[in-house]
Amino acid sequence: MPLSESLPVLSDADVAQYRAELGTAGVRVLVGSVVDMGGVARAKSVPLRRIGEFHRSGMGASPTWGSFCVDNTIVFTERLGVVGDLRLRADLAAARAIGDGYAWAPAEVFGQDGEEWPGCARGRLRRVQAAAEAAGLTATVGHELEFTLTDAAGEPLPERRWQPYGLGTLLEHGGLAAELTDALEEAGAPVEQVHAEFGTGQFEVSLSPSAPLESADRVVLARLVIGRVVRAHGLLASFSPLPFGGGAGNGAHVHLSLERAGVPLLSGGQGPHGLTREGAAMLGGIVAGLPETVALLAGSVLSFARLVPGSWAGAYACWGLENREAAVRLVAATRGNPHGANVEVKCGDPAANVYLATAAVLGLAVRGVARGAELPPEVRVDPSTDPSAVRLPVDQGAALDALAASALARDIVGDDILDATLAVRRHEQTTYGELPVPALADRFRFAWTS
Ligand code: GLU
Ligand code: MG
Repeated sequence: MPLSESLPVLSDADVAQYRAELGTAGVRVLVGSVVDMGGVARAKSVPLRRIGEFHRSGMGASPTWGSFCVDNTIVFTERLGVVGDLRLRADLAAARAIGDGYAWAPAEVFGQDGEEWPGCARGRLRRVQAAAEAAGLTATVGHELEFTLTDAAGEPLPERRWQPYGLGTLLEHGGLAAELTDALEEAGAPVEQVHAEFGTGQFEVSLSPSAPLESADRVVLARLVIGRVVRAHGLLASFSPLPFGGGAGNGAHVHLSLERAGVPLLSGGQGPHGLTREGAAMLGGIVAGLPETVALLAGSVLSFARLVPGSWAGAYACWGLENREAAVRLVAATRGNPHGANVEVKCGDPAANVYLATAAVLGLAVRGVARGAELPPEVRVDPSTDPSAVRLPVDQGAALDALAASALARDIVGDDILDATLAVRRHEQTTYGELPVPALADRFRFAWTS
């Protein structure tokens, strides 16, 4: 079924049905959240009895919800000030029980008059997905979540006990990993795989692919579930792009594939590695658009301490088959890859707003197909050894300047979101941009933890 362009209003009977189902699952409270421009999830909660109001009328919020900063400052913009009122409407069809009497649902932002608010990130991804569908393209998105465990005081776990991808390490945290997997599956965020990552204390959970909006919702859900399970084990989870100065960064890699009338664009064609003509244009559109949109995927004051060559974060605007240093890694359709060919956009991190990061990648892909974007030459080596390879912006200021000047980004996310994102990120840059990386990492270690 095509995605509706606006959050539909459910009938009383449907609301009653959701209330009954959630009640049966032991839910007493529904928490509904939105993700702000700085990548932080903000929430309101209601007793189960009031979920109809949360869905139909929405819970009140000031327009400044669009301009909260990661350090709890509010930046005022022309459109986002002290006057006015917004309504957060919970999407009950996406509500999931998360245990302890709680359910969670994604919310979308409206005006009091019931008009969609143009600053709503989820609403924007909804429209980008609907536009892709209207152009005959069906998108599938899969997210990888990297996060770093710390002790209860926020300090690193012992380094000498950490084996990257180690069996011993995974099993040392086996109780937590198993509980995490169970809790995610149960909450409705199906898991592909879990492993101990490279950095000390770092784990990765890959979520199963799904439609773009649903997948982005599952990231928000998964992050709150991970936060809770990890806390229950007496630890904390950092979703910072760089939890500790000098350590490994946390990425938020996004996998995307497109189909037209059930036929994949990234395999079965005559182009390199089986790309179809449209698949090549999709890839070309993403690679060409990343330098000016990377601040939507990795825009925080810590993002550029992570996005450096040699860290598998994809610091170069190029593509290559299974090239883990390219911002765009092509994963071909092989027997080893049951979901079929896809592109992995690696440069993003968990400080982004996942709805906007997804909208950017999908928006670039769809526009690339529409204009028949040229596929640049493949980079088959480490791009840092290829003098023709283009670095993505190297610091937050350069990335924000590129975003501010990008008509493409403005077209994909709209004026309200673009201007609010710039205001929030510029605040980070001017206030904290000069801090040494270890101090910065320390200050914001848990800023993106739910
Ligand atoms: N942690 C790396 C990043 O920041 C990614 C490592 C990997 O490829 O899994 O993106
Ligand atoms: Mg990884």
